[in-house]
Amino acid sequence: MNADYLRLRERLAEVQDLGSAQALLEWDQRTMMPARGSAARAEALATVVKLGFERFASDEVGALLDALGPWAEALPYDSDEASLVRVTRREYDKARRVPVTLKAEIARTAAIAGDAWIEARKASDYAAFRPHLERIVALRREYAACLAARGTDPYDALLDDYEPGFTAAAAARMFEALKVGLVPLLGRIRERAGALDEGVLAGRFPADRQRAFCLDVMRAIGFDDDGFRLDVSAHPFETRMAAGDVRMTTRYDEGRLADALFGCIHELGHGLYESGVDPALARTPLDHGTSMGIHESQSRLWENVVGRGLPFWRFFYPRLQQAFPEPFAGLSLERFWRAINAVRPSLIRVEADEVTYNLHVLLRFELERALIGGDLAPADLPAEWNARMREYLGVEVPDDRRGVLQDIHWSQGDFGYFPTYTLGNVIASQLWERATAEVPGLEAAIEAGDFAPLRRWLHAAIHHHGAKFTGEELLARVTGRGADPAPYLAYLDAKFAAVYGG
Ligand code: ZN
Repeated sequence: MNADYLRLRERLAEVQDLGSAQALLEWDQRTMMPARGSAARAEALATVVKLGFERFASDEVGALLDALGPWAEALPYDSDEASLVRVTRREYDKARRVPVTLKAEIARTAAIAGDAWIEARKASDYAAFRPHLERIVALRREYAACLAARGTDPYDALLDDYEPGFTAAAAARMFEALKVGLVPLLGRIRERAGALDEGVLAGRFPADRQRAFCLDVMRAIGFDDDGFRLDVSAHPFETRMAAGDVRMTTRYDEGRLADALFGCIHELGHGLYESGVDPALARTPLDHGTSMGIHESQSRLWENVVGRGLPFWRFFYPRLQQAFPEPFAGLSLERFWRAINAVRPSLIRVEADEVTYNLHVLLRFELERALIGGDLAPADLPAEWNARMREYLGVEVPDDRRGVLQDIHWSQGDFGYFPTYTLGNVIASQLWERATAEVPGLEAAIEAGDFAPLRRWLHAAIHHHGAKFTGEELLARVTGRGADPAPYLAYLDAKFAAVYGG
């Protein structure tokens, strides 16, 4: 084996370890840390980020990459070695363009802004959060300016961190294509709004019994108690320290079963992806899911295509009836299934149905692009938010808690992340189309509670590769084309004709 390559891998393993330490500090902050730990945690995080960054963006790593370039290019494109050098080169070149002080300042500010967001959201007090948002927008604009090529949209530089190669223009085209299909579909659904009754889902669902049922479902899908954890946090998320150490969170609303249940299935989709990365890639920059669009395709596929599907509930509904006789014992599967798929424009993105969900994302995409482009001041954000909610979804926002303060992303400086949710929906349908074509009896297996065929297909097609390929490359390898909204729109049309049909 090439000695420079081994040296590079050693260096990168240390960087990866610091990344795991960072993930653990962040996980702890969101799940366990008492409130007064906030300021000290922000400093600890900034230091860990700085150390990782200095190790990674070092002259030594640069020299190793230079020396390894010709060697790696002669190897097969999809080999671990060529992929490691190629992906590291791309990340290294980006990292070298951002001053380490700016990186650390973003981490420190995000840690403080995240805690401020939790308090502001609780109190529905946008004014308390605004200075934090102003600071983080300014830092992200500075960051984008380090990376954006002259004359390009600075927002593209931020998108690239989550979905390499994806651009604001491509995202705008995707949303346009979706609007053309979604608006008439929503119209047809509105005409048949009386066809189903969401009220049948009302009940009292104690948190401990919700947790037990969620774990029952997740274990059947692939949650493994030796490799996963499930805890509670204000905003559900999934993170990982290693393929064998996946942390998921949820939150329980005792009046609504659906939030935690579908939230857990969603985060498990992320977790399965992370836990399925080839062990040969451990402690390298390839040891994680490749892009947020692909990541969201995994969570959305399990949550919506599988988890809100009729075959899935043919298996799980009797168990649900047993776990919560009230209100489900006397309710038919059919009425239950239609109710969990009810379409109703609403205030909260993470609780939105499959049809209106992308309109929530579109609104955020437009607003954050304007914030980063300098076309919208944080002071004007709530008014713009509320106006677009009215225009796109026809709902009035009663307070900022259920409006502009509902998502954690902006407090973390995660601008450019939201469009990957919709991209994930689009890709999920493309993958489902391939999976059902390639795996005979896939739906019958799901109906029998056997999720291994789908899990195995996803593992071989997606999970196993880690970050060796970009999202775009991976999608082309699996489907032979790029992101295409057509299968997603066809899926929604067929599904909601059934949900709202006679
Ligand atoms: Zn997700």
